[in-house]
Amino acid sequence: MDRQQEFVLRTLEERDIRFIRLWFTDVLGFLKSVAIAPAELEGAFTEGMGFDGSAIEGFARVYESDMLAKPDPSTFQILPWRSETPGAARIFCDILMPDGSPSHADPRWVLKRTLAKCADMGFTFYTHPEIEFFLLKNRPEPGVRPEPIDSGGYFDHTPHSSGHDFRRQAIMMLESMGISVEFSHHEGAPGQQEIDLRYADALTTADNIMTFRLVMKEVALEQGIWASFMPKPFTEHPGSGMHTHMSLFEGDRNAFYEAGSEYRLSKVGRSFIAGLLRHAAEITAITNQWVNSYKRLWGGAEAIAGQGGEAPSYVCWGHNNRSALVRVPMYKPHKGGSTRIEFRSLDSACNPYLAFALILAAGLKGIEEGYELPAAAEDNVWTLTSAERRALGIQPLPGSLNDAIEVMERSELVAETLGEHVFDFFLRNKRAEWREYRRHVTEFELGRYLPIL
Ligand code: GLN
Ligand code: MG
Ligand code: MG
Ligand code: MG
Repeated sequence: MDRQQEFVLRTLEERDIRFIRLWFTDVLGFLKSVAIAPAELEGAFTEGMGFDGSAIEGFARVYESDMLAKPDPSTFQILPWRSETPGAARIFCDILMPDGSPSHADPRWVLKRTLAKCADMGFTFYTHPEIEFFLLKNRPEPGVRPEPIDSGGYFDHTPHSSGHDFRRQAIMMLESMGISVEFSHHEGAPGQQEIDLRYADALTTADNIMTFRLVMKEVALEQGIWASFMPKPFTEHPGSGMHTHMSLFEGDRNAFYEAGSEYRLSKVGRSFIAGLLRHAAEITAITNQWVNSYKRLWGGAEAIAGQGGEAPSYVCWGHNNRSALVRVPMYKPHKGGSTRIEFRSLDSACNPYLAFALILAAGLKGIEEGYELPAAAEDNVWTLTSAERRALGIQPLPGSLNDAIEVMERSELVAETLGEHVFDFFLRNKRAEWREYRRHVTEFELGRYLPIL
């Protein structure tokens, strides 16, 4: 046993932790958990803890269903919402096959593999997500319209607002689990919140996002409300994105930074953006994986451009241009070399491991191949005509899950990065989702057609 493992075992005793939740994530980004007794943990560290992988979405075919969950001791955390003793703790796991090799179905492994490639190129990948979500008055019920907890807007701070209490409690809970919060505020839509996590390496960030979603849901339940990461629950309001800021470091030097160049952006930074743009359409099925995700990307932009919709619909980049897919935010001298790139299509309901892996792969491809960065978009791209956009070479993002699947199917970059197993499973699963959606008669159709046809 190594020192980290010993530390965990000692802490269990000292803090009277009797339940250890082993956490991992399925291919669609749902958190899975199995609780074990402290006496089992030592064995789990050395051999892994066996479970039936065929019962987990996207993990295995029935004939190869035995899998092992192997806890990563660096992710050990006591769960603050079970503060009564005996307590509970969680550890993220890597998923292994019975012979001890990594499972190709494990999203955490997909990200680790891509990070290893990044390390081979001499870089560390840091990410910082801005997570948006809604707080609703009640637990969702079929046929009942969701009701936001308040009618506030961007940066609003109203006295006795439940959103304010919520953020305070939620952030204290995150901090007590070692997740630092940089920034939080009321977002543009009624009941909509944003909480931004501090920079961390991408694997830690992805783990933190999984924890974040659970913490938000737990705190909401405690307060008798409901937290939702659904990308676009309201036709008339903006959806919930997960804009992600990112940078590559070479040792302790920001590889995106170059004094004196335009936007203080280095060649590495420019090629990284070029990679993101060139492969943006291919990776959209993963960064925006639900039928509903496309109501945010398209509804938000066209219907409420200029009114705080601000979800990207076109593939372009800009400096402080909030209609662009990739933004190079203002340089903050007091933050010392804070040059970074903001990628804005992701939504809060993606699988963060897979999304980060593909974003990184696209950016690295740009560096490897030395892609040239096209000119920045100066205008609000939503207000241009399609002819103007065409003249500028600005392509649309996929307009629906179906469009996104079709581009992804042909992508070598995505197939290679996800690996055959995840790639095939994901496409099969998403085609099925699209088929089911397509045969469904919607409220829109009934309202529009019944009265006139
Ligand atoms: N909610 C918007 C989106 O869906 C973002 C709004 C903002 O942070 N400027 O991306
Ligand atoms: Mg923000
Ligand atoms: Mg925001
Ligand atoms: Mg942003």
